[in-house]
Amino acid sequence: MIIGSHVSLSAPDFLLGSVNEALSYDASALMVYTGAPQNTRRRPVTDLKVSEAKERMKEAGIPMKHMIIHAPYIINPANSTKEPVMELARSFLIQEIERVHEIGASFLVLHPGSFTDTDPDTGIRTAASQLNEIADSLSDSVTICLETMAGKGSEIGYTLEQIAELLDHLKHPEHYGVCLDTCHMNDAGYDMQDFDAVLDQFDSLIGLKRLCVIHLNDSKNPRGARKDRHANIGMGTIGFEALHAIAENTRTAHVPKILETPYIGKHAPYGIEISMLRKGVFEAERLNELNDRV
Ligand code: FE
Ligand code: FE
Ligand code: ZN
Repeated sequence: MIIGSHVSLSAPDFLLGSVNEALSYDASALMVYTGAPQNTRRRPVTDLKVSEAKERMKEAGIPMKHMIIHAPYIINPANSTKEPVMELARSFLIQEIERVHEIGASFLVLHPGSFTDTDPDTGIRTAASQLNEIADSLSDSVTICLETMAGKGSEIGYTLEQIAELLDHLKHPEHYGVCLDTCHMNDAGYDMQDFDAVLDQFDSLIGLKRLCVIHLNDSKNPRGARKDRHANIGMGTIGFEALHAIAENTRTAHVPKILETPYIGKHAPYGIEISMLRKGVFEAERLNELNDRV
């Protein structure tokens, strides 16, 4: 099982600290933002202790393709009305692709964005044309993974049809893949109790070979709620059994699973969640205990 979580990236150890955090959870994959997810200030890659991080990954037997990078979520490729927002999406993405390339990671997860005051169709066409604008900056070593969204507000990319349409409009689809988020899929209306049926649909609309990353999260809201609030594994409406079945599905065995579940009290739940998923046993009390821990 290739499984890990979102981990922090912060001074003084930066990426080396991220890898050490992942190893402390006994993870075999990890995901980082190259800086704060809510802003676009970034340190040069040369500050990030990349070679030390790679060395540590190597020692632990984790290939670099299991280190996923997530673009900040304030980038909105679907906005077509505010030129500064559009310009930021392009310029930041160009730099981010270069950073991912320099780090030596393979997958950059990107939210397709929100159409704000236009309409879904305009949003999808805008996101595609924005990505086509930066086509010259694509790197052969970096796959941009469009994430399936919950459909909150004016988000695009919450149906597999919309993701397929976006991919259809791209000049260089070979540089693109998909990140499937189980909380988002549930909130968008998909039945995560029948993952094989979801994968069949994914395969016929997009092609399973494009599935590069799975965000494994439970959801605080019922199927179809279009909310996007992540719950701890087994603590939400998808439930432990379905999430464990997704983690173990043989058709996606090669796809890294990344937990983006909330902290409990002041503590990261990832070590416990990873161990529960590996064992196939839900241990609510181990998670709940985190609440009382100082
Ligand atoms: Fe995301
Ligand atoms: Fe996600
Ligand atoms: Zn989410």
